[in-house]
Amino acid sequence: MVVGSSFAGLTGALELRRRLGDDAQITVIDRRDHFTFIPSLIWIPFGHREPDDVTFALSPVHASQNIAFMCADVIEFDIYGGRVRLRDGRSVPYDRLLIATGPELAFDAVPGLGPDAAGCDQSVCNLEHAMGARAAWNAFLEDPGPVVVGTAQGGSYFGASYEFLLNARHQLDGAGLEEIPVTYITPEPFLGHFGLNGVGDSADVISELFGSLGIEGIPNSAIRESRPGEIELEGGRVLAAEYSMIIPPLRGVAPVRSHPTLSDEAGWIPVNDEYRHVDHREIFAAGVDIAVSPPAKTLVPAGVPKTGYMSEHMAKIAAHNIAADLTGGTHRRVPFDEMGAIAVLDGGDRGLILKTDHVIGEAEHPHLIAGPQAHWAKVAFEKYFMATRRRGFVGP
Ligand SMILES: Cc1cc2nc3c(=O)[nH]c(=O)nc-3n(C[C@H](O)[C@H](O)[C@H](O)COP(=O)(O)OP(=O)(O)OC[C@H]3O[C@@H](n4cnc5c(N)ncnc54)[C@H](O)[C@@H]3O)c2cc1C
Repeated sequence: MVVGSSFAGLTGALELRRRLGDDAQITVIDRRDHFTFIPSLIWIPFGHREPDDVTFALSPVHASQNIAFMCADVIEFDIYGGRVRLRDGRSVPYDRLLIATGPELAFDAVPGLGPDAAGCDQSVCNLEHAMGARAAWNAFLEDPGPVVVGTAQGGSYFGASYEFLLNARHQLDGAGLEEIPVTYITPEPFLGHFGLNGVGDSADVISELFGSLGIEGIPNSAIRESRPGEIELEGGRVLAAEYSMIIPPLRGVAPVRSHPTLSDEAGWIPVNDEYRHVDHREIFAAGVDIAVSPPAKTLVPAGVPKTGYMSEHMAKIAAHNIAADLTGGTHRRVPFDEMGAIAVLDGGDRGLILKTDHVIGEAEHPHLIAGPQAHWAKVAFEKYFMATRRRGFVGP
């Protein structure tokens, strides 16, 4: 059984089918009936994508691979009974479980933060939020003022906040609103840290980029409170904000977090190099929901980003090992810090391509390429991803 059907869960289920053949019974449960290509949500507020461009229905994809798909909310993992319990009262048994439930958006950890609070914050972490951010952006353009973009303490989707920041600047400049100030706030200890202690010369590249665009970046910042029209940082500085987009702190989802032996205090699942739970042999986890320690302690808590690419990689390893458990064969071990990562940060008409062969620690060949090709690389990747995944293909 797989719980979650986004980057990690969808890949894990398709890979399990590929490895286990037609006879294995595979069930996938997700509370959403659609897959969303989250990386493109940064374009939704500016009207560059519509919901249909970035989503597809999960049921037909799973049906085409003979995978049972249930659109339901898991409320409890009954580990000792080998079942998951659903909000609608059903309970579903499993032999092996892959948990791919991603993060919970912890807006409530910062006073006033988030689109449902009284402040001015928007979010692009899911489709509903991104559509709300679009409505707010259109209203903002009627009477524009200072913009604040960033990540709250305990957040880790740094790439998303850099992308939104650069896209917002690009939109404002295109609308003749060059005088509108845009400020970037982040728990990263330096700009271009990305939660990874930097990639190559990312600190210099980001600082130069900010300088050329007139963006003030405030590293080591933590938000004390978000209020209508302003954001107060720890230390007392108050930033005027007519529009803000802040990536919230993240934690594990409630049924994982509340289980006494499944996760750590923040709700992240401890796994070994097989992406198997350290205490429960029959349980695997992949994606944002796994526990990873930051490369070094930072002044303000900053999480390690687990990208879509990494989430899929983990899911493939977990699926390989589940298949090895069930059918024999060797197990595969890939420590998280030895995993490579490729990320494309779009900036509207330019951006950055980052590639590292080690997510954490000394990378031998870190690459950082800045320029307009980053924008087109992201567009090409989006098209390739949507075309392949909606046909049930997850690559070799
Ligand atoms: C705005 C933004 C832009 C990003 N851009 C990029 C990018 O350019 N490149 C990149 O590689 N990464 C990017 N990321 C990161 C990427 O989106 C994540 O790495 C990826 O979504 C993680 O996949 P996941 O499957 O682990 O978790 P998620 O995508 O969070 O999926 C978890 C799934 O589990 C389901 N679920 C959760 N709880 C339950 C429950 N109790 N019952 C049933 N179902 C449940 C959810 O409905 C969801 O479908 C971005 C993230 C954001 C927010």
